[in-house]
Amino acid sequence: MTGIMLIGEAWGKEEADVGLPFVGPSGKLLNGLLSQVGIARDECYVTNVFNFQPERNQLKTICGKKAEGIPGFPALNKGGYVLAQYASELDRLFTEIDREQPTLIIALGATAAWALLKHSSIKSLRGAAVMATIAGKRYKVFPTYHPAAVLREWKLRPILLADLTKARREAEYPEVRRPRREVWIEPTYDDLLRFEQEHILPSPELSIDIETRGREITCIGFAPRVDLTLVVPFFSASTPGQSYWPTVELETKVWNWVLRICRLRKRIVGQNFLYDTNFLWTEYGIIIPHAAEDTMLLHHALQPEMEKGLGFLGSIYTDEPAWKGMKRKKHNETVKRED
Ligand code: URA
Repeated sequence: MTGIMLIGEAWGKEEADVGLPFVGPSGKLLNGLLSQVGIARDECYVTNVFNFQPERNQLKTICGKKAEGIPGFPALNKGGYVLAQYASELDRLFTEIDREQPTLIIALGATAAWALLKHSSIKSLRGAAVMATIAGKRYKVFPTYHPAAVLREWKLRPILLADLTKARREAEYPEVRRPRREVWIEPTYDDLLRFEQEHILPSPELSIDIETRGREITCIGFAPRVDLTLVVPFFSASTPGQSYWPTVELETKVWNWVLRICRLRKRIVGQNFLYDTNFLWTEYGIIIPHAAEDTMLLHHALQPEMEKGLGFLGSIYTDEPAWKGMKRKKHNETVKRED
């Protein structure tokens, strides 16, 4: 494995003693995780944002007020702004990147994400590769947790392990590849019939997802394949009666279509599916007799200590960008429960 650059935060005592990165406890943990996922550390270039040991290992000791900070860089967590006198460390880091020309930069922790992406919310950034401009050139950056965070909070270990597994694959090509998905939105009734014939009926399985608002369903998604979805809307903020379908007769036909699809004899799955199946039954009288699996529960069985919301699952099992950072619409939004 070549072309990987690993960037940490700053030296600890052990690193400062020998002038080398990741030789202390964090480094030992990192070595184990790398070898577990099949990344050879000695083929990676390993460095830090700050090649020195901050006083008391506290980065806040090199931070100050905004006016004293490195121009153009946001605050580093709550610690304040990294003082302008440390800009030379960023110059040194960017020179190393320019010299090494890595295929993939793994940003270990918030400080590396701050230096490379100018964001330090590692919890929402982690697990997805992004392109970043560093010293005028484009690089693929993959943010994940710092091994020291795992030493503090051991339940993060499987997440870092999953991320490094993904990073190993990401290092095989230089560009960011997002999943290509076809999503049918704003369908006509004829579109539903066509989607049913061409895509739902031939598929052995189907994923269903409802969105709700109070006691109403605002839309339902039907995915017969991972890369194909039909969204059937019911609520529309822009029509006088707030119904997507122009007449009651047509909406009734659509609900009958939904009923037929939900009754199909195929493997039907969903995320937090007990919620969806219960809601459909208690509020609409619709039963899904062949409800087979709940992705949330399956994941929970595999990794009981991990989060199990959809955004988190996406960060572990897909190459989608971090959903949690996506902006929410203020008005008339469909707010999904936290699943
Ligand atoms: N933590 C880091 O961020 N870098 C090191 O080199 C060691 C610990």
